[in-house]
Amino acid sequence: MKYFNNIIETIGNTPLVKLNKTVADVPALVLAKVETFNPGHSIKDRMAVKMVEDAEAAGILKPGGTIIEGTSGNTGMGLALAAIAKGYKLICTMADKQSQEKIDILRAMGAEVIVTPTNVASDDPRSYYSVAKKLNEDIPNSFYPNQYDNLSNRKAHYEQTGPEIWEQTDGKITHLVVGVGTGGTISGTAKYLKEQNPNVKIWGIDTYGSVFKKYHETGEFDENEIYSYLTEGIGEDILPKNVDFGLIDKFEKVSDKDGMLMTRRLAREEGLFMGNSAGSAVAGLNQLKNELTKDDVVVVIFHDHGSRYVGKIFNDDWMRDRGFLDKEKARALDLIKN
Ligand code: PMP
Repeated sequence: MKYFNNIIETIGNTPLVKLNKTVADVPALVLAKVETFNPGHSIKDRMAVKMVEDAEAAGILKPGGTIIEGTSGNTGMGLALAAIAKGYKLICTMADKQSQEKIDILRAMGAEVIVTPTNVASDDPRSYYSVAKKLNEDIPNSFYPNQYDNLSNRKAHYEQTGPEIWEQTDGKITHLVVGVGTGGTISGTAKYLKEQNPNVKIWGIDTYGSVFKKYHETGEFDENEIYSYLTEGIGEDILPKNVDFGLIDKFEKVSDKDGMLMTRRLAREEGLFMGNSAGSAVAGLNQLKNELTKDDVVVVIFHDHGSRYVGKIFNDDWMRDRGFLDKEKARALDLIKN
């Protein structure tokens, strides 16, 4: 008989799928690493389990313990799978700009979810970082993984995502394109790939309202770069320890509108029902198409699944209210509906 002993053993070995219509103007071969094939429907399953297992090995997390994390949902899902498989309690703190679906899913998986305000600084006691830290201080036998600064995060991608991509492309990958949040995915994967071939180019996708691109280019942490935005999963107003800026060749910023419209195109034109950061990454790649040739092999990481965005990106009214669907198209849709 062939079976897995529990759900977390099914994590990893996700497929590479060629993109066609959404990259018609890009001269290279473009392959998406579709991380929604993980059991929690996102790449975050990999690092969630790695953070828990490294904490167990270090004696930080003991039987009967409570895991407490600030998460936009995907890490929470990965931690929920780890907590269920290994018998821990889980509390997630989450900013209120996140989809209601993400909150409901975590609650369905047995986690306690505490929703915190989005528009406060990270050092404000009400922020999701601060609330998670405080709970960790107050609850005995609790573990705060802190995905931003816990280097087990990027190690998971050094040990798994990087080798998988290298093997799947027969070592022919020339460019890696990745949305950057904690930086774990890009830094761990890049380290492995650059060790195999230092010429592999690493492009990070950033958002307007985030500090990464400016910091990478100037070394300056510019608070003027920080403002609120709607893109989920990528961009930060802090510099997480997991971002290894030395491994990243370039950051490209993608607007909320362009990222979201491309997310919709991925569903309709490629059959890939993905989350926001997948669309942002493909939109960013299109912005950089003049830097590629027909001999290049580009791998784009698709972090999470579209089901978590049905009330937003995949809802015409939500998109129209924010000016993300052009007026002509919106009017045409209304005419059809009426
Ligand atoms: N996309 C989505 C949907 C995410 O949840 C995240 C994590 N915040 C990212 C991209 C960025 O990945 P990483 O944290 O590894 O940089």
